[in-house]
Amino acid sequence: MKTSNKFYYFSIISIFTITLSLVIGLFSPSQVKSHLKQMKDDAFQGAQPIIPTLEVKHAFSTSKLNQSIHYQQEIIREKAEHGQAIKELQQKNKVIYLTFDDGPSAYSEQMLDILNKYDAKATFFMIGPNIQSYPAVVKRMADEGFGIGMHSMTHDAHQVYSSATSPLDEMLEESHIIQGITGIEPLLIRLPYGSVPYLTVDMRYYLNENNFKIWDWNIDSEDWKLMDQRYVTKVIQDIKSLEQSGEAPIVLLHDKQHTVQHLSKLLQYLKKEGYQMKVLTEELVPYTFQCEGRCYSINE
Ligand SMILES: [Zn+2]
Repeated sequence: MKTSNKFYYFSIISIFTITLSLVIGLFSPSQVKSHLKQMKDDAFQGAQPIIPTLEVKHAFSTSKLNQSIHYQQEIIREKAEHGQAIKELQQKNKVIYLTFDDGPSAYSEQMLDILNKYDAKATFFMIGPNIQSYPAVVKRMADEGFGIGMHSMTHDAHQVYSSATSPLDEMLEESHIIQGITGIEPLLIRLPYGSVPYLTVDMRYYLNENNFKIWDWNIDSEDWKLMDQRYVTKVIQDIKSLEQSGEAPIVLLHDKQHTVQHLSKLLQYLKKEGYQMKVLTEELVPYTFQCEGRCYSINE
């Protein structure tokens, strides 16, 4: 190659290089700008809310559902605890009223001993002449905090219910006897055979006028009929049925030999079940059978 040719090629290359450099120099700022813009866009993209995918949405709704179930379970648990607390309270305040009719008798002392052994109180609806036969035991009942109630003088339906004022007359006579022995003016009464059907409206009126509280029962032991420990089984069964209603049991029993013989068994059960055996008082609203068209005069 000639020297002139060499110079020619050298010049061409130099011009091309210079031109290329200029071109690069002209365009590079915009490239940098666009690169920065891209970076900015990327950063902006990062701050955008994430559009939930189906999977995320599902997880979200599942957690909501779990929360709702959790709350429901909490409510159920609280309700159960509340129910349990009420049950425990009812359990603590379980009261039963044992009542013994037709005494006092030769077995009354033994009955009081058994009741005391189980820390049990009871109410005695007694017959006037029997009180006169066993005044000491009536005095003991009063002294030891047992309930003193009246059950007429004759216990003869044809006499007790013979007139509008005859039940009242018998109770007033008996009250006089009890006051003479104990100093207590008894107001609790139980009519022979219960207040239905023979205690008519006018008889009730006179008794109420004299402030007497008529007590019937909601559990009949049938001890007088069963004559053995089957009466205990019957009372326990009846208590279980009555427990559903929340009513305090008022048990009709009798001051009789067969009743005394198996009384411990009943008291053991009541003690185990947490019952407090209490006396009926004048402050309680009497549990009285309602006539509801069933009452009629024995003379009819
Ligand atoms: Zn009786």
